Amino acid sequence: MAKVYYENNADLSVLDGKKVGIIGFGSQGHAHALNLHESGVDVAVGLYPGSPSWDVVKESGLAVGTVDEVTISCDIIMVLVPDQIAFQVYKDHIEPHLEPGKTLMFAHGFNIHFDAINPPPDIDVSMIAPKGPGHLVRRVFQEGGGVPALVAIHQDATESALAVALAYGKGLGATKAGILETTFREETETDLFGEQAVLCGGIAEMAKTAFEVLVEAGYQPESAYFETFHEIKLIVDLMYEGGLAAMLSSVSDTAEYGAYTRGSRIVTPETKAEMKKILAEVQQGEFAREWLLENQVGQPHFKALRRITAEHPIEIVGAEVRSMMAWLND
Ligand code: NDP
Ligand code: MG
Repeated sequence: MAKVYYENNADLSVLDGKKVGIIGFGSQGHAHALNLHESGVDVAVGLYPGSPSWDVVKESGLAVGTVDEVTISCDIIMVLVPDQIAFQVYKDHIEPHLEPGKTLMFAHGFNIHFDAINPPPDIDVSMIAPKGPGHLVRRVFQEGGGVPALVAIHQDATESALAVALAYGKGLGATKAGILETTFREETETDLFGEQAVLCGGIAEMAKTAFEVLVEAGYQPESAYFETFHEIKLIVDLMYEGGLAAMLSSVSDTAEYGAYTRGSRIVTPETKAEMKKILAEVQQGEFAREWLLENQVGQPHFKALRRITAEHPIEIVGAEVRSMMAWLND
């Protein structure tokens, strides 16, 4: 069984007298900085000069400075900038100030696992990766709970890397839900595969294609949108709360029978073979190389794909349909 850490396994006092620098104040950064601050941890936020988030940090009462300043003044540096630029920020503004004994942290293993960032051997390198977007990490904490997280240790120069990472996770609220032990490799590869095959790639493609099939058959786009897109949330909520059993027992027997007999015709042995190829591209670093290269040349392919997706009829119709649902607009 995988090892899971809870409140009693983590000691916040490990962070007494230490300063934590949060680099970036986006989705994860704002949640980490504010949760840790409210847990009594000494936090400073590092940004680039001219960031629109600079004033937002100040207004929330936290210290803010450049990445260089914050790295110099802090003992623990959590890197929460976009993964595709992290190695540059690291090289220019973090690496020069990494004195022995400092701790470098990440919320995703991408740059360490694929060797884009190679920290000196005399510092600790660890990961606390919340299993949820930043706004959820923040909201659940404010409600008195925590979002589960993963912990991994890449380098343990001080022999306290795990204790520090778990204390950080406790300040974030994650030990309330549980922190699962993993490795940089496992976190990175499963995360990339999951978002590509299912979460962000697979589901979106399935919904778009099913929408096209209905519209091409002459059904109203609004009806197609409801059936193939809107209702995903209702179904996923049931799966999330009680597994497939809860979902299948809530839908009609007709839907359940249709699911058993037709679902496996959508995800076929060919689909599984393709999933294995996608996993191999992740494992061999092929995807990482492709994505970092795409960024080096200014993201032309990425930007084109974004535009094409934004122009898909499911997005146009969806925006209209959602404007009818007042409760979605706040
Ligand atoms: P965001 O894009 O939401 O935020 C990035 C932040 O970095 C912004 O505040 C941005 O500034 C700042 N930034 C950009 N460039 C620089 C720079 N050169 N120097 C300093 N700061 C800079 O990122 P996320 O929070 O989504 O991702 C951060 C990390 O968390 C990644 O490793 C990601 O994989 C991981 N993660 C993300 C999850 C998520 O749900 N989003 C879930 C789990 C892990 P500005 O405010 O000016 O734009
Ligand atoms: Mg992910």
